[in-house]
Amino acid sequence: MNFMRGSFFIFIILFYLSCSNKKTVNLENLPIELLTEELSIKPSEFLYNINLDSFDYVTQKIKWGQSFSDILSRNGVSNQTIYNATNAAKEIFNLKRIKKGNNYTLFFKKGTKQLSYFVYESSKYNFLICELHPNVSFKKVDKKITYLERQISGTISSSLYVSFADNGYPIDLVNLMVDVFAWQIDFFRINPGDSYNIIYTEEIIDNEVVGIKNIKAARLSHDNKPYFAFAYDQGLGNDFFDEEGKSLRKTFLRAPLNFYRISSKYQKKRFHPVLKRYKDHLGTDYAAPRGTPILTVADGKITEASYGRNNGYFVKVKHNNIFTTQYLHMSKFAKGIKPGKHVKQGEVIGYVGSTGLATGPHVCFRFWRNGKQVDPYKQNDLPEGDPVLPNHRNAFNYIKEKYLNLIIADSS
Ligand SMILES: [Zn+2]
Repeated sequence: MNFMRGSFFIFIILFYLSCSNKKTVNLENLPIELLTEELSIKPSEFLYNINLDSFDYVTQKIKWGQSFSDILSRNGVSNQTIYNATNAAKEIFNLKRIKKGNNYTLFFKKGTKQLSYFVYESSKYNFLICELHPNVSFKKVDKKITYLERQISGTISSSLYVSFADNGYPIDLVNLMVDVFAWQIDFFRINPGDSYNIIYTEEIIDNEVVGIKNIKAARLSHDNKPYFAFAYDQGLGNDFFDEEGKSLRKTFLRAPLNFYRISSKYQKKRFHPVLKRYKDHLGTDYAAPRGTPILTVADGKITEASYGRNNGYFVKVKHNNIFTTQYLHMSKFAKGIKPGKHVKQGEVIGYVGSTGLATGPHVCFRFWRNGKQVDPYKQNDLPEGDPVLPNHRNAFNYIKEKYLNLIIADSS
């Protein structure tokens, strides 16, 4: 927090200095803090690593239909130089992908119309710099990212999403939270009064938050029971563990899609929307836009990838001697999906569609246990991921204590 406020303050001063036309600032009239800040800060003389003592610059946005060569030729660059620059770009960036609305900056040799550099903001994380004079070169530069740990908390009145929106918290964090606690908490059953603390890492570039790197720790209290998650990597990638070091992950994904809405749960005697009669619904329907990737929920081997009049295009995956899963109504299979192929958890096996007996695009997900279709969310004994291993206990406990203390301090 202090860091952000400090940076913002510095930014204001730099902004003030760069906007001020008056060459002399009357230092006596400035407040004391401003004076000391100003004396200790050297105003930046570089933009995109280019020394502004030698160049004038102008920043604009790419207009509709505007190309790299349009911009250069409009600014007096010769066809030969444009040709050389385009060639130099080839291995680095496809110039056809220059996007309308993105910023670019032109650097002219001070006091002249000689265009020396073209800089294009290719993304939040990097920029392209093309030198045009005296030499021609092209390179991609990664911006410096700083990371800041932040802590937020709140109480839920209707849903996690609404609470985040009300508090102005980053909405991207909602999906990360749902992922972390996917097997512990049914986010469709969050109650008013449930509360949360989250410690996460923000990515900052040029004093601006550009994204979220990850969640470090979280608490979610549901029906007065606290659930904890601590991020830890024991050499198998980042994973989440509870306060006892047990994995929060199961060997199954909670759902075969990343973003979805459950449109029909597993239930006996459901009124079938197409057949117009009561029938058991032994799967869970996930509604999602046509073409959304469908993921296998666990490692396994494909036993069927075919078409049925009711099921449409479907894939069946055998995970072991006990568990098998099935995914119906696909618009198409993913590349290379056929019986006998081994798949990894989270691998794309097909795409959402409405083939077979379906009213709209969705996946009907079926979960088989010992040859019987069951409700996956009622299976309380699904195998868990590995707990924190003995040789990692001390390191994990250290991290856990650190974050637990921060969460407790924030909650009291
Ligand atoms: Zn279904």
